[in-house]
Amino acid sequence: MAEWNGGVMPECPAIKELKDALRSAVPLLSANPNKLGTVRNDSSRHTAGLAMDIMLDSRDPVEKSVADSIITAVINVHHSMKWYDLIYTDWENGKPVYFHVPGLPPFGGPKGMLKKNPTSAKLGKQHENHIHIDWFNLNAEKWPPQASTTGFKTALIGELQKPPQWLVDFMTLNF
Ligand SMILES: [Zn+2]
Repeated sequence: MAEWNGGVMPECPAIKELKDALRSAVPLLSANPNKLGTVRNDSSRHTAGLAMDIMLDSRDPVEKSVADSIITAVINVHHSMKWYDLIYTDWENGKPVYFHVPGLPPFGGPKGMLKKNPTSAKLGKQHENHIHIDWFNLNAEKWPPQASTTGFKTALIGELQKPPQWLVDFMTLNF
């Protein structure tokens, strides 16, 4: 059964604005447009224009730290972005820890909304080299109203440009 039966759609307004914000605020992503993948024709939520893959590899320390700061930012601005789910990978002692962060029902998990919840190894394995984020509510024919969410760009850019916590801690300890 296909995830999406509505044909190839353009990027939804929320995805479009997220792309703009990431390209403005994240140098690694402005430098290489191919690192942001949205619509593709495979009857998935990507075909619906409701999903984005941010190609930052969790095995690369630099890309991983940028990815972590993006995840923190989209969680902090979730109240105005209203995305549904996000998937990525952490590493502990050389072992992958696959997780998803539910933002809205029908997604959820034992750790709660906007927290890292475990996901399957099968799904997780596909998300070692990119963050997946979407506005898909499992309806195979129709965008959810949240797909039209806009107006979060300034707040998101603000979050993305905050100094990372390790730097704040370092400055506080030493000066
Ligand atoms: Zn994806």
